[in-house]
Amino acid sequence: MIYQRSSQLFAEAEKVIPGGVNSPVRAFKAVGGTPIFVKSAKGAYLYDEDGNRLIDYINSWGPMILGHAYEPVVEALTERAKLGTSFGMPTELETKIAALAVAMVPNIDKIRFVNSGTEACMSAIRLARGFTKRDKIIKFAGCYHGHSDSFLIAAGSGLSTFGVPNSPGVTEGTAKDTLLARYNDLENVSALIAANPNEIAAIIVEPVAGNMGCVPPLNGFLEGLRELCSANGILLIFDEVMTGFRLAAGGVQELYGIQADIVCFGKVIGGGLPVGAFAAREEIMNYLAPLGPVYQAGTLSGNPLAMAAGLAMLEALNNDRAVFQRLEEKTAYLEVGIRKVLTENGIFFTINRVGSMISVHFDAEPVVDFQSAAKGDNATFKKFFHGLLQEGIYIAPSAYETWFITDALTYEDLDVTIQAIDKVSKTF
Ligand code: PMP
Repeated sequence: MIYQRSSQLFAEAEKVIPGGVNSPVRAFKAVGGTPIFVKSAKGAYLYDEDGNRLIDYINSWGPMILGHAYEPVVEALTERAKLGTSFGMPTELETKIAALAVAMVPNIDKIRFVNSGTEACMSAIRLARGFTKRDKIIKFAGCYHGHSDSFLIAAGSGLSTFGVPNSPGVTEGTAKDTLLARYNDLENVSALIAANPNEIAAIIVEPVAGNMGCVPPLNGFLEGLRELCSANGILLIFDEVMTGFRLAAGGVQELYGIQADIVCFGKVIGGGLPVGAFAAREEIMNYLAPLGPVYQAGTLSGNPLAMAAGLAMLEALNNDRAVFQRLEEKTAYLEVGIRKVLTENGIFFTINRVGSMISVHFDAEPVVDFQSAAKGDNATFKKFFHGLLQEGIYIAPSAYETWFITDALTYEDLDVTIQAIDKVSKTF
């Protein structure tokens, strides 16, 4: 496949946009080459500026769980746009999506909408600090919770891709309140709590991690966090920006039956528009302005276009709960197929998967935390990525990202993908 026009467009973009992109991982820095410029997308496919069709395994990094340009979302948006695109005043639509989200997700009474996953996590932490009257938080190495200052400490995703554990511009004062733990290591968390008695406001965790590739919680890890939080007056924050409305209608809380105190959302909840949200039981949410003392606001929060897209998406998922089982089956089929061809071709690999989140690590050891994720062979990953691109298959341009499977994928698409992986892995 030829990516000539994409290269030209990237060269033009680089002149006026830092690195040519508005979010770093899009830049192909980890894998080399130039990014693909998209012209349009429909269902499981991307159509690029060179006229290539690509099978999409990123799906806008998660939101397009039912495929691109999903008709009910497109219709809701078109109808809504005619009525005005922003008012900065309440609309009935906001209550409708809030009520539906609260009905779908366990343990939440109220939800507040923001414009991104970053904002959701940032606000959740502020709320937790205000509510507990404590300053420190615990986060896990390799987990990404957006780019607000408190979280840019050993974050996964782009920070791992580019090898910058901490970003310049985050002050030492901020960094000292973020304590770092190893994912899947309860003893490490216990020790941090013991060393900082009555100082920790919250533990924030990706309950299934997706920013160091996909890393599932080991048996007992989330249960252990719940117990430690309850015993020490700490709020447990599930960052379900990736997992929410994807792994189950009620997210990881439903999937594993574990109760979080605050839940953060993004991606699927906005149907492909810029939306994030955070939610909790009433007692915690009433701590927010205008009811309570913790301030949080947004000119475009609850924007009618964003809410219309999000509502159409949540309604589609809520009315067809079988979608989660279909996604499980499709992704399991892909997993089995990839395992078979990589094994036959003598490749060292580990595949991690939970539901429709899956990733291939090029290392034979189990991947359970950031350290083990970082052992993956990046040279092999680069060959894998570019080989698949030539075959018309688009996966995330970094080994530290998960793939997001969409229900728009057919079994034929999956077979084509497995055959391409067979072909490409023979060249490693
Ligand atoms: N939390 C998690 C788990 C994420 O994966 C991301 C983004 N990939 C974020 C938060 C930040 O969301 P956004 O990019 O919408 O700010």
